[in-house]
Amino acid sequence: MSLSQIASSIPASPTFALNEEARLLREKGEPVIHLGIGEPKNKTPISAILSSAAKLSSGDVKYVATDGTPSLKKAIVRYSEENYDRVVAPQNIIVSEGAKQSLFNILFTLCNPQDEVIVIAPYWVSYPEIIKMIGAIPVIVTPEDGSFIPSFYEIERVVGSDTKAIIVNSPNNPSGMIYSEDLINKMVDLCERKGIYMICDDIYHKLVFDGKVAVPACKYTQKDVENSKIILVNGVAKLYGMTGFRVGWAIAPKKLVEIMTNVQSQTTSCVSPVMQAAAEGALIGMQSIVESLRLSIQNNRDVLMQELHSFTDVHCSKPQGTFYALPDFKAYCRNSIAKNSVELCQFLLKKALVVTIPGKEFGIEGHLRLSYAGTVKELTEGIERMKWALDPNAPSEIYIGDRKLIRDWL
Ligand code: PMP
Repeated sequence: MSLSQIASSIPASPTFALNEEARLLREKGEPVIHLGIGEPKNKTPISAILSSAAKLSSGDVKYVATDGTPSLKKAIVRYSEENYDRVVAPQNIIVSEGAKQSLFNILFTLCNPQDEVIVIAPYWVSYPEIIKMIGAIPVIVTPEDGSFIPSFYEIERVVGSDTKAIIVNSPNNPSGMIYSEDLINKMVDLCERKGIYMICDDIYHKLVFDGKVAVPACKYTQKDVENSKIILVNGVAKLYGMTGFRVGWAIAPKKLVEIMTNVQSQTTSCVSPVMQAAAEGALIGMQSIVESLRLSIQNNRDVLMQELHSFTDVHCSKPQGTFYALPDFKAYCRNSIAKNSVELCQFLLKKALVVTIPGKEFGIEGHLRLSYAGTVKELTEGIERMKWALDPNAPSEIYIGDRKLIRDWL
């Protein structure tokens, strides 16, 4: 069978593949703990339910404008003013099926084949794959000092004549780190000097801890949206726990939005007006919902850090935002149990029924990404199981579900 080489080279999203594996195990009655999943457990905000229900019960659910309904765009204009102090026109906005589609549209619209897009490791799994899918080349910057944030020099030196864009995700999935104001400022300056687009994936921007702030790139530009190199991506998935609604958006110069709209009109036509009504409800409803989510996640982060503290030879930089941590498990990737993070994840799923995501998928081998978006109980039990499976100093007996298990491999 002769298939597209590009399409055939794209792997499944590892997070979705592991979700499916966990679902199948749970279906068989296995007490799986999911520390892989990237979504909060909260219920949909009531304002989102009511506005989408009203749209649905109107019975008037048809095609709508490709770039988004005027009323959702109005809510996004307001959101941008309130959160970014940025004046945005409706023509600067395009609503898509989640931030993921926004990113695809942006990259497809910006890049010719062989153009380069800079991606900073550790990175969200989909960036390099989307870049490859559109025929462009991901140029990965890996911090040499082993940290999760590169120096400005490390970024600057990979910029060349083929560089089209750089993707910035702060707070960062998977590390939970916030890039410093200084670095963001210098990157804005670099992009404006070199004519490179700075794609800011802000999907976690309000999920920040300990009074820290993820300073938006637009703070450092004198240019308005129309003349700026900064493209902003956001959505309702993470801040409102609305991952299943599939609504995200991009804010960019009008010309770019126009082309993205043409692309989207030939692919998905438009986002369902029911889902757009839900997103609008979330944006104009009570915002205390985001704050309570942030507080519960910050508490989970503290629980996780405490649990990891007593895990022999595991080191973890304290996350400053998101709901992910990226602890270093290299000490457990050097023995007969596992040679790398992929094998370690497989081992943990098989022996301890805990889902984690291999660091390799995020461009950082030897680490595991743990999500603390779930409950404290799942978190403590999950880490306890991981310790039992890996740490010789942990008790060798454990109950998983109603089965008593004895560790006999260390
Ligand atoms: N960007 C990042 C950094 C993410 O972690 C995710 C989801 N995991 C997305 C974008 C995609 O968001 P959405 O669900 O709105 O497509």
